[in-house]
Amino acid sequence: MIEVKQLGKSFGDLVVFRDIHLHIHPREIVVLVGPSGSGKSTLLRCLNGLEEPDAGSVVIGDASWDFSMDVSSKKQAIRKIRTSTGMVFQSFNLFPHMTVLENVIMAPTIVKKMSRTEAVEIGEALLAKVGLLNKRDEYPSRLSGGQQQRVAIARALAMQPEIMLFDEPTSALDPELTGEVLAVMKQLAEEGMTMIVVTHEMKFAREVANRVIFMSDGVIQEESTPEQFFKQPKTERARKFLRQIE
Ligand code: ADP
Ligand code: MG
Repeated sequence: MIEVKQLGKSFGDLVVFRDIHLHIHPREIVVLVGPSGSGKSTLLRCLNGLEEPDAGSVVIGDASWDFSMDVSSKKQAIRKIRTSTGMVFQSFNLFPHMTVLENVIMAPTIVKKMSRTEAVEIGEALLAKVGLLNKRDEYPSRLSGGQQQRVAIARALAMQPEIMLFDEPTSALDPELTGEVLAVMKQLAEEGMTMIVVTHEMKFAREVANRVIFMSDGVIQEESTPEQFFKQPKTERARKFLRQIE
């Protein structure tokens, strides 16, 4: 589903990560953790083409990107990768001047050239899935943070992505609102969506993840099942990280 090889990214002199290898199976739920600044967001952004890696290759479904491609092939590859990945950010990034439904159907109608009728049908089904069909005609500012994030999830799903990438989707939310967002993510996982989730919600990691990846100092330090990772982390770095967040 996802095959990442020797991926590297620097900003000027700052090496964010190097030689990252990832192999993610269909329906797998991977939770990515690591200290602040360890490159988690940059890695997700490199996976969906928001950021251009400076080494390595990325294969997502039938789309692939390689460092050595010429500029126009890269552009084409990135366009394809974008449509096969759905991304959800910490800040919900909804379009404030559009209603909830318009937010959800915009990309399918513009990027996928779907008819409005079909997009509305899919959009309404997705809003129902995240429990917000009754808010379809509201503007984002009238929704709680948790509701806005559920709309952002529906909007990402509207492109029918092969994989969903979540970058700290509950970090901007008050604690009482994180549960409703995690519940939607858990439901997606149960339905077989392939997901990479950057989160500090260790309960979610324990309950939902198939694999935990711990990143620090520019490399993947450790990869294991949640049971192993939380009970018996292999590295001192991971032990230190776990002590700090618990
Ligand atoms: P994380 O998500 O794990 O907290 P990030 O991927 O956001 O880490 O950042 C990794 C490092 O890259 C940090 O040192 C950050 O300051 C730096 N960084 C991220 N984006 C940029 C950018 N656009 N320009 C320069 N430095 C950046
Ligand atoms: Mg981040």
